[in-house]
Amino acid sequence: MIETLARDIFCIKIPLPETPLKSLNSVVIKGKERNLVIDTGLNHDDCFAAMDAGLTELGIDRNRTDFLITHLHADHFGLLHRLLTPDSRIYFNRPEAELLEAWEGWEPMLESARVNGFPADKLRQALENHPGFKHGSKWKPGMRMIHDNDEISVGEYTLRCIETPGHTLGHICLYEPENKIFISGDHILGDITPNIQCWEEGENLLNDYLQSLDKVYHLDVALVVPGHRSLFTDMKKRIDQLKAHHMERLGEVETILSKGAQDAYETASQMTWDIRAASWDDFPIAQKWFATGEAISHLHYLEHSNRIAKTLDRDRIIYSGC
Ligand SMILES: [Zn+2]
Repeated sequence: MIETLARDIFCIKIPLPETPLKSLNSVVIKGKERNLVIDTGLNHDDCFAAMDAGLTELGIDRNRTDFLITHLHADHFGLLHRLLTPDSRIYFNRPEAELLEAWEGWEPMLESARVNGFPADKLRQALENHPGFKHGSKWKPGMRMIHDNDEISVGEYTLRCIETPGHTLGHICLYEPENKIFISGDHILGDITPNIQCWEEGENLLNDYLQSLDKVYHLDVALVVPGHRSLFTDMKKRIDQLKAHHMERLGEVETILSKGAQDAYETASQMTWDIRAASWDDFPIAQKWFATGEAISHLHYLEHSNRIAKTLDRDRIIYSGC
């Protein structure tokens, strides 16, 4: 399905099989010399078929097409290697390019989940259900690094890159000033709340996220094109809602901790989740994983704000109310 957003700017819906996100919004900008595709889909045949059909319908010559990936998640990055031609440029952010360079497999993330209380006997199963494990790609391409305020020209348009860390470490949004289009990746979604997971000790991605929301708040935006679900117009209202959501969640986590010291997995099991399951025990394993990562991001934020305390009990990280 293709939607025209402005002259030579299009959105192709790429289905995302087996994920609750349903589909990805891939933005395509047509130029005389070169075209640009922003985000691609999973490394999955259904994604490839949809992208291939969409690009063909738009008359896009793949040999004159470059790619920009907003962040290193499999549903945005995974399909990229199947779309490239020898001349394709790939625009990407430095923090996540460094993660790719230093990639040592999934073990460090599994270890982080374990010390945060994720059941050791369920770790393998969680990994095998993780979209990045199932539909990512192990390949490390040559990429052009983009930074805050860099401009990318395509056709008659100039896109401004805006670093918006939080959803991931190096997430990039794009702003097109002529039509006031904001391509938000997974930084700001309209129908669902972007997942803010944190697996590294010392990182405070929720704080980064809230600052990145403030950073783009005053942009003059007429249309937000998020990475998933519906396009929308009132970005300020949505940012206000997302900030309020996280303030509420932080309060909820503090209340949960007031019942007793516990690890992140236990905290996650008591938080309110917008998911169709009767109880925590009925959550699909992948959702338990995401929920634990989300609980950790809120716990890190509270700990950095001195609202809660962290201790190590043998090799398990325990949080408690102050
Ligand atoms: Zn994402």
